[in-house]
Amino acid sequence: MKVLVAVKRVVDFNVKVRVKADQSGIDLANVKMALNPFCEIAVEEAVRLKEQGIATEVVVVSVGPVAAQEQLRTALALGADRAILIESNDELSSLPVAKLLKAVVDHEQPQLVILGKQAIDSDNNQTGQMLAALTGFAQGTFASNVEIAGDQVIVAREIDSGMQTVALKLPAIVTTDLRLNEPRYASLPNIMKAKKKPLETLTPEALGVSTVSTNQTVKVQAPATRSAGIKVKSVAELVEKLKNEAKVI
Ligand code: AMP
Repeated sequence: MKVLVAVKRVVDFNVKVRVKADQSGIDLANVKMALNPFCEIAVEEAVRLKEQGIATEVVVVSVGPVAAQEQLRTALALGADRAILIESNDELSSLPVAKLLKAVVDHEQPQLVILGKQAIDSDNNQTGQMLAALTGFAQGTFASNVEIAGDQVIVAREIDSGMQTVALKLPAIVTTDLRLNEPRYASLPNIMKAKKKPLETLTPEALGVSTVSTNQTVKVQAPATRSAGIKVKSVAELVEKLKNEAKVI
């Protein structure tokens, strides 16, 4: 069974981002970039399926600039077999990304496609769902457990009211939630080995996919800064302030 994993290059989750002065987006100059954490979980799950002898090949794909090769190499160091970069310097919205991934699915014919539930930069939480719609594959989103059973994948999903288990006929699409697994660290020998694994570069044009966006970012603003708190001397003073100043009780 071939497993395709979509991975995105994003700002490292430890970085405190700055909004550009013209509010057109986030300032990415000299900012540390990383593999999106939910994509790391997706790679880990695919590699575990390979280690269990269920997956025969794990292919990772990313849509992004040449620099996204770094994140693909990280995924290869974590255990993926081969990588595909669809090179684009544009800031693409979810639909063009999903269309590009669909072109790769058509070509690679994976039985299982694993994506993160969301990219931590845009928080779209759309790409897996759009890819499912475009391919017509079944989808199991927010997965916290994944098991292959014959021609089905059984996905436990984290939903507001608890846990829902769904059985999806393969080929299927799964998006990962935080509790699915704890990704491993890449060892130095595996980082060295990853440098020699195949990494193919494609373009949207070569895949025949238009990346024209239907969305336009109007502006990006930093969250309002919180005003400093105060210390109260007694519970009575706290209650008085909550009642008369904050007017919340
Ligand atoms: P989003 O819908 O943007 O929140 O992203 C959800 C998931 O879709 C990510 O965790 C990735 O698995 C995949 N994805 C989104 N954008 C890209 C991209 N540019 N390249 C590869 N995969 C992506």
